Amino acid sequence: MGDVRDNWRRIQQQIEEACRRSGRDPEEVTVVAVTKYVDTERTREALDTGLEHIAESRVQEALPKWNALGDRGTWHFIGHLQRNKVKPVVERFTYLHSLDRLSLAKEVSRRCEQQDRIMRCFLQVNVSGEDSKFGVEPDKLVEFAEEAAQFPYLQIEGLMTMAPYTDDPEETRPVFRRLKELQQELQRLEHPRLQVPHLSMGMSRDFVVAVEEGATFLRLGSILVGGKK
Ligand SMILES: *Cc1c(COP(=O)(O)O)cnc(C)c1O
Repeated sequence: MGDVRDNWRRIQQQIEEACRRSGRDPEEVTVVAVTKYVDTERTREALDTGLEHIAESRVQEALPKWNALGDRGTWHFIGHLQRNKVKPVVERFTYLHSLDRLSLAKEVSRRCEQQDRIMRCFLQVNVSGEDSKFGVEPDKLVEFAEEAAQFPYLQIEGLMTMAPYTDDPEETRPVFRRLKELQQELQRLEHPRLQVPHLSMGMSRDFVVAVEEGATFLRLGSILVGGKK
């Protein structure tokens, strides 16, 4: 795995090309470095390179990195979150990409109130319908979004999904397109707390397609900082 800087530069070029093809402005696309596979030193390298956004998916693995580097960057929690792990997440992370049930919304809101802070949240949607994936079913999204919007300490930024694992990124396109449609569906409600400007979608294998389909936050691990050892 080469320099983070070289990887990032290559990725930025691909994002620019995908934006050009789809008539988008690259400024709308934020790269979040997923450091769950790598150590604190590599995470520091990502921050030193100028990457501002850092994502982790497990509290236990995130804590040592956050303790060393938490005064830098903006931290995103992207993994499945159990209620008994909410407190450390609320204390450290700015964004939660995996809000997927009412009981979790309640607990995050309660902890945020205690800390007097707002959590920026993405509603995770299981667009592909795979059993292995977390997220609300598309049919239940409007109901869940309206419930989540009632919590004053949660700011609903948008929707998040994970596409099926596949060697052919083209196969992910319908999933990303559907998430965009669901975003538009929420926006048509004209609910003041459901403007949902953002789409968190696209990982190392499929981020180019995700950009073409409207992603505003890309979650990139293997291709940017390194993958599973
Ligand atoms: C691991 C992970 C990523 C990054 O995966 P890569 O394929 O290595 O880019 C993105 N999102 C979530 C939710 C993850 O768990």
